[in-house]
Amino acid sequence: MPAAVTVSATASATASATASATASVPAKAPTAGPVLAGKVIAIDPGHNGGNAAHPDEINRQVDIITGRKPCNTTGTETDAGYPEHAFTWDVARRLRTLLEKRGAKVVLTRPDDTGVGPCVTERAAIGNKAEADAVVSIHADGAAASGHGFHVILPGLVAGHNEAIVKPSRRLGLAIRDAYRNGTGMPYSTYLGKKGLDTRTDLGGLNLSTRPAVFVECGNMRNRGDAAKMSSPAFRERIAASLAAGLRNYLNG
Ligand SMILES: [Zn+2]
Repeated sequence: MPAAVTVSATASATASATASATASVPAKAPTAGPVLAGKVIAIDPGHNGGNAAHPDEINRQVDIITGRKPCNTTGTETDAGYPEHAFTWDVARRLRTLLEKRGAKVVLTRPDDTGVGPCVTERAAIGNKAEADAVVSIHADGAAASGHGFHVILPGLVAGHNEAIVKPSRRLGLAIRDAYRNGTGMPYSTYLGKKGLDTRTDLGGLNLSTRPAVFVECGNMRNRGDAAKMSSPAFRERIAASLAAGLRNYLNG
């Protein structure tokens, strides 16, 4: 009965790993339990560190249903040269740590900050394949220097494609917006959207997602005040904690 032996060994190893993981979690706070156990969350850190050096690969046009767009883009940066791809990668790693502590399974759309792409189509496919309960794309804006604040982008209806995710994505977006404002103290965007929300049908990551999905534009990197916040590791931890709280509220709501 080799099959039975294998299953038994696997189950035993899993139980042992679970017991070990549980034992290592300090029981100091009521929220320390695995409140996200069984949940799958896809985190999509926008852009990638190798994109700028590979224009041919990232400028390749891909189909996002409502049009054609480059596979990926380089993103923006602060006036001091802190790039968006590094910011999104750092926040994504911090967020992954917080979510895994709470028992979630986390899937990232890229493994590091030195690669190229993947294309927006592939990023959406990763969340779909993982059957993610929620998908969050992390970005920072590069708008006029006078504007500041954050906003959350919700999927607009693309008939015949994303009907199923429009409503849950709105709930996800509201939960993240509220948690982000409470947790970071940042105001809603002063230059875009309404009450920190925007709705778009020109983003592949939203058009092609079959799972509840939103984008978060964490601030305006070209604004001096926002840039100072986003360049601070301590503030990025607050951002990650706020996103984790929003996800938790959505997934347990
Ligand atoms: Zn971006």
